[in-house]
Amino acid sequence: MRYSAQALFIRHTLEKLTKKISDTLRNLRKEKGWSLDKASIETSVSKAMLGQIERGESSPTIATLWKIASGFQTSFSSFIEESPNNDIIEYRSGSPKQLHPDDTKIRVMPIFSFDKYLDFEVFIIELLPGCEHLSPPHKGGVIEHIIVVEGEIEVLVSGKWTRIKTGEGLRFNADQEHGYRNLSDKKAVFHDMIHYPKN
Ligand code: MN
Repeated sequence: MRYSAQALFIRHTLEKLTKKISDTLRNLRKEKGWSLDKASIETSVSKAMLGQIERGESSPTIATLWKIASGFQTSFSSFIEESPNNDIIEYRSGSPKQLHPDDTKIRVMPIFSFDKYLDFEVFIIELLPGCEHLSPPHKGGVIEHIIVVEGEIEVLVSGKWTRIKTGEGLRFNADQEHGYRNLSDKKAVFHDMIHYPKN
């Protein structure tokens, strides 16, 4: 079977991503000395699912990866890739990654991976029309800063959806159930800067 260059590139990237996620999870579990049972309790992700991810048999949805990152008290970007913090990062439409086939309408890419001295990470997130993404609470003290750079979105905080347009921002405590959705008929893009408290 022949693939277009583009399809090959995406496939290669996804395989690398799956491997990076499985290696990171295995190393974290080893570091903490957690059994699969313990990891399942801490992350609220089933043992079977954790095992599959760790063996590289499946990649998690964004929601599942957030549960894992929160349960291990680590950053989301540590599972995805190292982006060198001194480089100029170029954003091109379409470059954020689809992590899992079920994530059909949301794409995520770190712009700045987790910085262990400054305790933050920055993502670019694309929501296609009709996307609604709910996020489990992060650990106490985690703060998210949302800045919309294209289109408009609504953010769920304290049980209320608030609309944010291009050029506007919203900061909220992310240790509660929260979410993002795009009710418009155009793609929306925002930056999400996540600040973690010092341990
Ligand atoms: Mn979040």
